[in-house]
Amino acid sequence: MKLTFHWAAKIVTGSCYLLEVENTKLLVDCGMYQWPKDVWRLNYEPFHFDPKEIDFMFLTHAHIDHCWLIPKLYANWFSGKIYTTSATKDLTKILLEDSAEIQDKNIEDENRRRAREHLPPRTPLFTLQQAQQCMHLFQDVDYATLIKINDNISVRYQDAGHILGSASIEMFITEWDKHTKIVFSGDIGQRGVPITKDPTLIAEADYVLIESTYGDKLHEDSGGKEELLLKYVMETYKKWGKLLIPSFAVERTQELLYFFNSIINKKLFPKEKIFLDSPLAQKATEIFKKHKECYDIEALKDFANPFFDATYLEYSLSVQDSMKLNTYRDPCVIIAGNGMCTAGRITHHLRHGLSDKRNTLLFVWYQAEWTLGKYILEWQKNVRMMGLNIPVNLEIEKINSFSWHADANQLVTRAKGFTQQQPKKVFIVHGEWNGQIMLKQHLENIGLNCYIPSLHEEVTL
Ligand SMILES: [Zn+2]
Repeated sequence: MKLTFHWAAKIVTGSCYLLEVENTKLLVDCGMYQWPKDVWRLNYEPFHFDPKEIDFMFLTHAHIDHCWLIPKLYANWFSGKIYTTSATKDLTKILLEDSAEIQDKNIEDENRRRAREHLPPRTPLFTLQQAQQCMHLFQDVDYATLIKINDNISVRYQDAGHILGSASIEMFITEWDKHTKIVFSGDIGQRGVPITKDPTLIAEADYVLIESTYGDKLHEDSGGKEELLLKYVMETYKKWGKLLIPSFAVERTQELLYFFNSIINKKLFPKEKIFLDSPLAQKATEIFKKHKECYDIEALKDFANPFFDATYLEYSLSVQDSMKLNTYRDPCVIIAGNGMCTAGRITHHLRHGLSDKRNTLLFVWYQAEWTLGKYILEWQKNVRMMGLNIPVNLEIEKINSFSWHADANQLVTRAKGFTQQQPKKVFIVHGEWNGQIMLKQHLENIGLNCYIPSLHEEVTL
């Protein structure tokens, strides 16, 4: 059989692997190149395979660097089933639809500019209609259940503990009477994070593809988030200010709600409002409410019923609701997208709130290079945005211990879990070069045979 590393090889985003077994061709993931910035253009290149010839796809989770190009696959005549968990299907739907709407708006703006410069118009990579139509291909799978795909291939999804619905995929292949098991790790989460279950250890494999996003990093102690959140709430409220939290709609927002819910249950939270100012985060939160089968025991006990005390939480759905917060005079928490302050409603709260020293801006996610969030975090002085120079007078804080990826030690623990059968080869994927090299060293130190594939490299197994 042949395995081709179309994407996520020597870069951290754009997960896509093609496996060819006898007469079957299948994909695992089909995601967007997000960063570094210069790889964005690769999303527009034709596929390096014919989507018409792909029989099935297996999706590990709903992050866009794993699922974003599914509508493009569909537009290029892929018509096979897409197997994934029900929670991943629901999250993928709202993320693809949201992305199609953003593309539509951005392309309108860009084409107005191009028309002025007498350039031909551009088209979006996929439309809202394609994003909606491709969802008909999705087929739900349950965790820990062996599913026979055809005479050659069976799969079993195991909880990856990364985001709601995320999975590692065990693939059992029979080819010419030879049995082979490949494990696609997907993105692996940390143990002990709220809501999602811990990742399931897998004990045997012939080949493993392991992610390496944090292959060269160790997380700080993941405890203390609740105490820090309470501290920043109290400090901000004492000054009668607003606590602004840029956040991503899926998982990080619900983790924040989980911790705030815990603070409220302990009767430590002041009687003020938490505004969730993101329609996408509100939709994602509804999906979290629906998929309690993905919750760990603590979340089932503390978070499921009721999901959140409605006297504290208010959704700002319309633009008018969001704008009203600019003139809201009481202390409050505002959670708004996006997490790197590059777009979305958080930019308007920053425009109105950066100069007010009573406010606090709290980062709960690392800020990538060339983002407004990174600029504010590093320079903490005047910001040029929306045609204005805005002084940065508010307090800036950061909680570093939020992460939905396993760190280097946790990845090694995962690799040590292959106790019943050690893999013949471990392919290190989905990481930046340093992370991949460091993880390779760590895994070789425990006796594993490792390899870092290149983009579009094909290997025979
Ligand atoms: Zn992910």
